Amino acid sequence: MAANWAPNSWTTAEARQLPDYPDAAALAQATDALASYPPLVFAGEARNLTASLGEVAEGRGFLLQGGDCAESFAEHSANNIRDTFRVILQMAVVLTFASKLPVVKLGRMAGQFAKPRSTPTETIDGVELPSYRGDNVNDIAFTAASRIPDPQRMLRAYAQSAATLNLLRAFAQGGYANLHQVHRWTHDFMGRSPWAQKYTETANRIGEALDFMAACGIDPETVPQLSQTHFYTSHEALLLPFEQALTRQDSLTGDWYDTSAHFLWIGDRTRFEGSAHVEFLRGIGNPIGVKCGPSLEPDALLRMLDTLNPGRVPGRMTLITRYGYDKIEAALPKLVRAVKREGHPVVWSCDPMHGNTVKAATGYKTRPFDRILAEVRGFFAVHRAEGTHAGGIHAEMTGQNVTECTGGAIDVTEQTLADRYHTHCDPRLNASQSIELAFLLAEMLNA
Ligand code: PEP
Ligand code: MN
Repeated sequence: MAANWAPNSWTTAEARQLPDYPDAAALAQATDALASYPPLVFAGEARNLTASLGEVAEGRGFLLQGGDCAESFAEHSANNIRDTFRVILQMAVVLTFASKLPVVKLGRMAGQFAKPRSTPTETIDGVELPSYRGDNVNDIAFTAASRIPDPQRMLRAYAQSAATLNLLRAFAQGGYANLHQVHRWTHDFMGRSPWAQKYTETANRIGEALDFMAACGIDPETVPQLSQTHFYTSHEALLLPFEQALTRQDSLTGDWYDTSAHFLWIGDRTRFEGSAHVEFLRGIGNPIGVKCGPSLEPDALLRMLDTLNPGRVPGRMTLITRYGYDKIEAALPKLVRAVKREGHPVVWSCDPMHGNTVKAATGYKTRPFDRILAEVRGFFAVHRAEGTHAGGIHAEMTGQNVTECTGGAIDVTEQTLADRYHTHCDPRLNASQSIELAFLLAEMLNA
């Protein structure tokens, strides 16, 4: 257990990006209620995830983490959950086949509500209001009343997370994740993709492997490895009053776990030295991530790893790098070398989204698919050159057919961004761009 740590020890450290709740009594009432509610995940599940990520850290697995930039109350529906889950499974099958490694599936789902912002206020047509900080803090509508932080929103976020997690568990265990079914969806997708030609060979080989197993008498309905899957949840541990309220002592081990999700990460804006967020995550037993952007120096990273993983437990730490397609190859090697030199076991995962956000001429925030791919390529190139394991991918994506990132096989252009631009925060890959990304990653994994 971490020394000198308590679920509230973060309150004496510098906390950035937290809302200023106008009514302390209302905040206390909401967090007291949350603290009385059941945990969303069980500590044993978090430990299983640490063990699987430990395998990834040692080069024997691959991490696929994906989902919304920001979940929203408005778009909470069974179809949205199902479609994102399905696309993650499709991506995972392609990646498993290509890498010949187990793929750890981790949703940015069932709790990804709180958003760090680059500016505390936003000005539209001369009107300045507090920024939107995610549906568990305030409302996205551009009115003064909507933007006031409301602690009751945390209770709604809890309820939505519980319902989402319940459905994800049912899909994962109840037959929806059957490998043959997942492959059929990919096959259907291929029928519609203008780039299908590129992927035919991989898809056919997966189909043949499944047919071969079936011919050998392996019935996917009865073999759990083929009919079920493990699916974990994650979000940015940003809204510390919420995270603290869901932090519980595990009755089996006596250790503290943040039971709001299996995996929590610290954002690029809140990972500075002395941060309340680092202090909080230091004491929880869950596997954790840290976003690593251009301002992170190797020495600071090593100090942070000593703080967050003093026992050097493989699988405890995932470093999620997000540089930008044109910076990664120059910036990443120095971090990789430092971590390798000091012998810290980490999963290296690539977030090719957050360093590649641009503003389209039409005013929309977007991300060109080519740049996303270029960053992934750079990530693989660095790890190949350094002799380290390119262990994972972290994507903002949805199972819906949105038009938020430009490019891809069914070309989204700056002109068509307005057609279905639904994100509550950053632009996401749509279903076909996500599957295309998996096929292109498969090529890189085999290169
Ligand atoms: C995010 O993952 O949505 C995010 C805000 O990322 P970062 O902290 O890397 O900017
Ligand atoms: Mn984002």
